[in-house]
Amino acid sequence: MAAHQYDVIVVGARCAGSPTAMLLARRGYRVLLVDRATFPSDTISTHVIHPTGIAALNRWGLLDQLLSTGCPPVGTYAFDFGPFTIAGSPGTDDSPVAYAPRRTVLDKLLVGAAAAAGAEVRGIHRPGHPHRRWPGNRHPRSRPGRPGRL
Ligand SMILES: Cc1cc2nc3c(=O)[nH]c(=O)nc-3n(C[C@H](O)[C@H](O)[C@H](O)COP(=O)(O)OP(=O)(O)OC[C@H]3O[C@@H](n4cnc5c(N)ncnc54)[C@H](O)[C@@H]3O)c2cc1C
Repeated sequence: MAAHQYDVIVVGARCAGSPTAMLLARRGYRVLLVDRATFPSDTISTHVIHPTGIAALNRWGLLDQLLSTGCPPVGTYAFDFGPFTIAGSPGTDDSPVAYAPRRTVLDKLLVGAAAAAGAEVRGIHRPGHPHRRWPGNRHPRSRPGRPGRL
């Protein structure tokens, strides 16, 4: 019974939910992270992680994982509105560039980090639908008794 008790249940395992679950699990909370989507999967979004977001990934120790995917840095932006364009370099001294990984890459990385931190990560079974299990690879660093499924 105790294995099914959580301090926090986070619904949604993409760029908001997974880091939330990861940070709470790192602080020792018992966290369940659920999503009706499977991972890796895409979602409606473009891909730019602005420099402040990159600073957060760095703080959390995840930036090297992102860079190891070969994602190139973006130093300057240009938003072309037709009659005029806004262009510039939005980085800071500490975090000078943006990156634009595909969500299939980013979200999988984040959900993996939540699992590695000890959050239990689960898909959701919807009645009437075939049981959608995320590919059943237990994360190698998930805690015993806390299966992280990616
Ligand atoms: C066209 C477009 C372009 C964008 N471009 C950028 C950009 O370049 N840079 C940027 O920073 N932001 C961008 N955004 C915004 C960014 O995509 C969102 O802010 C971000 O995806 C929100 O993250 P999230 O984790 O809160 O939600 P989502 O990424 O939407 O994830 C929510 C998750 O929750 C799950 N979920 C929801 N309800 C339930 C439920 N009841 N049960 C189980 N699971 C559930 C869903 O399956 C989903 O996986 C863009 C958005 C759009 C639409």
